[in-house]
Order: sequence, then structure tokens, then C-alpha cells
Amino acid sequence: MKYVSTRGEAPELSFDDVLLAGLASDGGLYVPAEWPQISASVFEEMAGLSYADIAFLVIQPFVGGAIPDSQLRKIIYESYAGFSHEAVAPLKQIGANEWLLELFHGPTLAFKDFALQLLGRMFGHVLASRKQRITIVGATSGDTGSAAIEACRDRDNVDIYILFPQGRVSPVQQRQMTTVEAANVHAIAVDGTFDDCQDLVKAMFNDSQFRTEQNLSAVNSINWARVMIQIVYYVVAAVRLGAPHRPLRFAVPTGNFGNVLAGWAAWKCGLPVDRLIIGTNSNDILYRFFETGEMRIADVEETLSPSMDIQVSSNFERLLFYMLDEDGAAVREWLSKFRKTGTMSLDDTRLTKARDHFDAARLDDKGTRRVIQETLERTGELIDPHSAIAVDAARQCRGDIAVPVVSLATAHPAKFPDAVEAATAVRPHLPPRLADLFERTERFATLANDANSLQDFIRRTSRLKSR
Ligand SMILES: *Cc1c(COP(=O)(O)O)cnc(C)c1O
Repeated sequence: MKYVSTRGEAPELSFDDVLLAGLASDGGLYVPAEWPQISASVFEEMAGLSYADIAFLVIQPFVGGAIPDSQLRKIIYESYAGFSHEAVAPLKQIGANEWLLELFHGPTLAFKDFALQLLGRMFGHVLASRKQRITIVGATSGDTGSAAIEACRDRDNVDIYILFPQGRVSPVQQRQMTTVEAANVHAIAVDGTFDDCQDLVKAMFNDSQFRTEQNLSAVNSINWARVMIQIVYYVVAAVRLGAPHRPLRFAVPTGNFGNVLAGWAAWKCGLPVDRLIIGTNSNDILYRFFETGEMRIADVEETLSPSMDIQVSSNFERLLFYMLDEDGAAVREWLSKFRKTGTMSLDDTRLTKARDHFDAARLDDKGTRRVIQETLERTGELIDPHSAIAVDAARQCRGDIAVPVVSLATAHPAKFPDAVEAATAVRPHLPPRLADLFERTERFATLANDANSLQDFIRRTSRLKSR
């Protein structure tokens, strides 16, 4: 299996190289040169299999032998054994032909555990077989940081540094990052905003001497492996609801476009996905794009669903590549004009084609509180603000009621207790294994918003020099 860059100028790579590279050398994102198809007989085999068994069948063709099958099976089983629900991603019925796919039973209570638990182990395997080590540096507005730390803790060949904006992540999110006792984990509170944190990470990657010296790597959602791993729960949900014989729809709360792109990738592999419904909060650039064909940037607003407070969704570039007929030069031109002018359009023919697969809906904070409250009354389920946006999008774009619609519940309500309590007067409790989170000791560094201090800190604390 070979991978090509969306900008058409980077070398083709195999899966293991794509895994470690993250971003392509031409600034583009890697996508598979061809899409493996799930055959009728494999679909048949999937019915009745466990989550991990189906995951192996979906992922194995994409890995293309870069990790031996026996190892791949082992790391998939280990990744999902740590989830607290036996079904891993349980489906709950919340209405007539309407379902909730719970993706928050992993160690840090958000869907990002699905990809990062496996990604961390894949890194471990590939690095060990190459006798290499890496330093991961990442910025987080909450969920990615805790999931990445949990996935990389205690790994010999990885040191991980996660930057978060001091005082701007929720107390649960902060403690999930700062109470992990592992010598290779470094949570860093930066005196600045999330954008400042991201700029600091970029500065580390742009300093080629530092980058090489520390063997820097990234775990953000531009990494192809994350998208690939997320295809699995779309397949599992569809198989449980009658695929390949019955089509279905998914509603996805969308920020960086990584999750919904995985649903689209599942369709490319032959899953009968009738529609993907993009849910946005008031940061509605994607909603406006699918309404009008014009992508126009606006200022980021803070909302009750912080993991979706994003304007430019980096994974959108992968969809753009296909909308522009896999023409890397056209992607480069589109993106450079967008960067210069803050606006870009898609012609009507292409827009119509994209609308065959995507619908979009938006919901503001007031609506989000209303949907959390209504869902509790209607179904008895407490849902978090991100999941509420999916549930509402599914209803706004319902279409044919004979087609099942699955809303993706991306975070546990206890991750956002204040918003949920304000909407329902019910305070959600952390699950037992995290019940003592607020008694655990915090450990983190506090740094100024300054690239030199960060480099000094990494050089001083990474285990690289002691080897
Ligand atoms: C990251 C995140 C999202 C957005 O997912 P994307 O892949 O960035 O579109 C939605 N909900 C929660 C809870 C998240 O953590």
C-alpha cells in the first residue's frame, strides 16, 4: 500500500513512513493511492465479530504489511482491552431509527482515544524495530493532549511534551494531563492562548537543527493513521445495523474534519454510507461552505463545545484533493489563494457532487443547552455539548426516516460537567476509574510564551542526552 501527498510533490511512502512523518514534505497530507475495498465475504465475516476483530479486518489492508499481522493484531487487542465498555463503541437507540454511537469509553473519555491508543502502540512498534526514538511536541485545547499523553506514557522510545494554554482548559482536561505519573510525560502550561501554543509547536518544527536533534514528531489529526483507525467504528456501527444490505447516515460533531473524513473514507472502502451530516457550533465555516460553495474565514468564537472551536479544518484538505479530481497542483493553488484572501469558492458542478455525500447543520450555545435538556427528557441519556450538536444535526437533516441515522457521541458528559449541569440541573459523575482525579497530585511546568525557553526545557528534560 502506497500513500501520496495531497499537494503532489512529496515522495510516495509506505504506511510506516507515513505514520512517523505526519505531514508530507511538500506541506500536504498523505492519502492512500488506492482505496482497499471491503468485499461482500468480508462483510459477512464481520457480522458477529468483536470490535477488535473488525478493526483488524479494516486496518490490515491499509497497513499493507508494514507491521506484521500477528503484531498488528496484538496491538489492536491491547488498545481496546483498556476501554471500560465491553462493546468498546456501544450503540444506543435514542429514537425511531435513531442511534447514538458512544465513543467515550476510552481512558480519557473522548473519541480521540480510539485513534491515539492504537497510534501510540504503532509508534512503539515501528520505533523499536528501527531502533529509533522520537520527541513528540503538541499543542492542545483539551482532548487531544490528554489522549496523546495516555497513549504515550511509559514508552521507552518516546518523550512527549504537551502545551496547553494556562487557565483555558477545563479542570477535568487539565488534571487528565497533569496527574499522569510517567518520566517521559511533560505537561506544560503556557502563559498564552491555544494559538500561542500552536505557534510555539510550529516554531519547534521550523527550526530544522532542533527538529533533527530531537527527532521531533507529531500526533495531531493530520496524521493519516488517526483517520484510518477511525474508519473502524463507522464500519462496526454499520455492520450492527445491517450493512452491507442496508444504507445508513452518520451525524458527526466536526472541528478539524478528521472524524467525519473517516466516515467518508469508510464510504470509499465500500460501506453503504448514504449521507454524512456535519454538525458545527457557531464556528460555522463548514456549514456555510456546504450551503454556498464559498469557504470564508471568520474569527474563532469560544463556545460550550471547545473541541470544535476551529475555523480552518486541517483535514478538509484531504476532501478537497478528491473534490479537485486528485490534482495536487490545483490543491496548492486553491490553498494559497485561500491563505492570501481568506476566501475561496467551489464551482457548482463540484459543489453538487460534494452535496451528494455531505449535509451540514449548525447549533449555537443556547440550542446546545436545549438539546442536552431535551435529550435527557426524551431518552434518559445525559449527553455532552459536542454530542448534542450531532444529535441535533441528525434531526435537522433527517431525510428518509427508513434510513437509520447514527449520531456520534464524542465525549463523556463528565468531561464538560458545568455545561451539562447548567442545561439539566444534573451533575454528571466521572466514571469509577477517574473518580479520584481531583485528589491526585498535579505535576506540570509553567513556561512563558517563548520558543527559546521551550527549547531549553526540552533539551534539559528529554531522555535523549542520557543515551
Ligand atoms: C476533537 C473533538 C471533536 C472534533 O473532531 P474533529 O476530528 O476535529 O472534527 C468533537 N468532539 C470532541 C469531544 C472532540 O474531542
